[in-house]
Amino acid sequence: MNSPAEPTARAADPAARYRVRTQPWYRPVGAEVEQFEAAWGARMPMMLKGPTGCGKSRFVEYMAWRLERPLVTVACNEDMTAADLVGRFLLDRDGTRWQDGPLTLAARIGAICYLDEVVEARQDTVVVIHPLTDHRRVLPLDKKGELVEAHPDFQLVISYNPGYQSLMKALKPSTRQRFGALDFDYPDAEAEAEVVAHEGGVPAELAARLVQVAARSRNLKGHGLDEGISTRLLVYAATLIARGIPAPEACRIALVRPLTDDPDMREALDAAVATFF
Ligand code: ADP
Repeated sequence: MNSPAEPTARAADPAARYRVRTQPWYRPVGAEVEQFEAAWGARMPMMLKGPTGCGKSRFVEYMAWRLERPLVTVACNEDMTAADLVGRFLLDRDGTRWQDGPLTLAARIGAICYLDEVVEARQDTVVVIHPLTDHRRVLPLDKKGELVEAHPDFQLVISYNPGYQSLMKALKPSTRQRFGALDFDYPDAEAEAEVVAHEGGVPAELAARLVQVAARSRNLKGHGLDEGISTRLLVYAATLIARGIPAPEACRIALVRPLTDDPDMREALDAAVATFF
């Protein structure tokens, strides 16, 4: 149990509030842990590239825990403005007061700032990260007239799914060339089954069959499917099975229906499920 003083201390100390307290379970799939550690050592801004639901966010949580850095995560979207990242003046009873946005907070406290799906944000929003990613490591707060110098431990990490990039949504070279990049993909079959068994609480043999269904769907990518079944969806299916839903039904709910509305595609995926369950 926490001591009574601890929550108060946490509220007063934002670094403590964003600390990853318990070890996230992460199954390495290559040399990404060592590579990221080397990048962090140089405080190199990093881009994690890969399809949705393949373990990028889990990896960042794990690395923040391992490196004992606070983690500030921002889910990017197209309505996001620069002010949502850097902060704004708020009006309250006592007048106006500045409130740091998550990027500013992360720069001040030396956190890893994880901008998830950065490509969703508009380009005029994304450019605010530029001065933080070169040798200056500063963040100008124009409205406030302050130049925030990033804490020595601050690191910027972005995730990017090249799969559904359109011409409109590709990251500009001026942005992408500020980052080192690690390629992520769904883990190989053995590792993925281990992840699904662990996360979904199902036996290894059942997890391995779910992974085979996913493999079939991934072969359909580009032939009517934008993306195959992700590791995340496999974990969902396993979780439903562990909670008593019969496997074929769990697969329909977690693997097939979320993926596509196309009746022919659904039929093809249902057939893949029927092969293994
Ligand atoms: P992304 O950020 O790439 O969209 P997540 O990191 O949220 O995907 O991964 C989705 C889920 O898949 C996680 O919650 C976790 O259960 C599982 N997962 C995927 N890969 C791994 C891995 N290598 N180790 C542990 N869990 C993983």
